[in-house]
Amino acid sequence: MHAMDGSLTHQPYGKEGQAIYSVSRGGMNARMMDIAERHGDAKISYNEVCYDANLEEGIVYLKNTITGKTSEVKSDLVFATDGAFSAVRYNAMQKLPGFNYSQNYIEDGYRELLLPANDDGSYKMDKNALHIWPRGRFMLIALANEDGSFTCTLFMPHGNHESSFENLKSRGDVENFFKATFPDFFEMMPNVAEAWEDHPLSSLAIIRCYPWTSGKVALMGDAAHATVPFYGQGMNCGYEDCSVMWDLMNEYGDDWDAIFKAYQEQRKPNGDAVQDLSLDNYYVMRDFVGDPEFLLQKRFERRLSELYPDDYIPLYSQVSFSHIPYSEAYQKGKKQDAFMKDLMAKHNLQAMFDDGSVDSLIHDIIKNKELIL
Ligand SMILES: Cc1cc2nc3c(=O)[nH]c(=O)nc-3n(C[C@H](O)[C@H](O)[C@H](O)COP(=O)(O)OP(=O)(O)OC[C@H]3O[C@@H](n4cnc5c(N)ncnc54)[C@H](O)[C@@H]3O)c2cc1C
Repeated sequence: MHAMDGSLTHQPYGKEGQAIYSVSRGGMNARMMDIAERHGDAKISYNEVCYDANLEEGIVYLKNTITGKTSEVKSDLVFATDGAFSAVRYNAMQKLPGFNYSQNYIEDGYRELLLPANDDGSYKMDKNALHIWPRGRFMLIALANEDGSFTCTLFMPHGNHESSFENLKSRGDVENFFKATFPDFFEMMPNVAEAWEDHPLSSLAIIRCYPWTSGKVALMGDAAHATVPFYGQGMNCGYEDCSVMWDLMNEYGDDWDAIFKAYQEQRKPNGDAVQDLSLDNYYVMRDFVGDPEFLLQKRFERRLSELYPDDYIPLYSQVSFSHIPYSEAYQKGKKQDAFMKDLMAKHNLQAMFDDGSVDSLIHDIIKNKELIL
């Protein structure tokens, strides 16, 4: 965490050895396409935009972006993974009676910036950390790339706020804003204003819908449950859709009605939960990671989990370092938070850390079975 005065504080993600990996999206896509071609005889088509689908017949209607030629492909099954603004969902599913749909933009948008490597290719900051500059109503984050650079993202309101994207109109506005608000970042990237327009200003939305399957078609990934990116779980949640689908294929064989039914019933609560978790973590990252009370709570939770790993897994670790379903983690996390708030109202945990009595408080909590999660 980067404070206004440039001082740094460090908060571990989880236990020693637990890490979040920063992975190139393009590299990941290329790797998956290679694997699909090598092991699954996949034929990959490029520049084919889907503009409609026939759900009952399993037909997708395509238009080639270069030739303009239209075509249709009929398949036994269609897995629609065409992202948050899925054409299959929008043009086919949404016409079904009983299809529920909601799209909620959050007030904030984002803009990416590339912080380049030093001239010798080395990193300008610790590469083994997610860097956050929490500033209350907005924040800057940075994640390391493999080439020494960092991909940085400024999340901030669009509209009528003291600090908003609308107030950063000229290069001078951008420069003054970074100098005043992220001085240590500005030192590393004094040309931030020149790079400002390199990436577009984008919006963020949560999209919920149900059902996720109809006829021969299933929505998967963001097409089914697009979320805001503040838990870093969007892609993982899409992969979990795939692993659950695979388990169901093994369980039900060729009975695709049963597979699709079980898939959407199992995954919908988890899609909802990853969206709720992501929104909650937005407020945590934006408003609380620099708050001493919040940091104290996290420190206590870490100690509790160190001493009694079977009794207490912090929410972040449940989500990021276990296969506990998102919906279960979300429910447990709410109970943990209520427990911690209550505990902190009763005890001065900072003083207990200082005088070394915190461990005996933890032993008492476990002995007296106060922790029922
Ligand atoms: C700013 C930001 C940061 C994020 N950070 C993280 C993170 O740190 N960790 C994480 O796990 N997730 C993150 N996510 C979320 C993650 O990017 C998505 O959850 C993930 O990419 C979803 O994968 P998908 O395959 O379902 O959809 P997408 O990745 O959106 O892929 C959809 C594909 O379908 C194609 N397509 C779209 N429409 C059509 C059409 N009509 N016809 C044909 N093809 C079409 C698109 O070109 C694209 O290739 C982030 C998202 C954002 C916006």
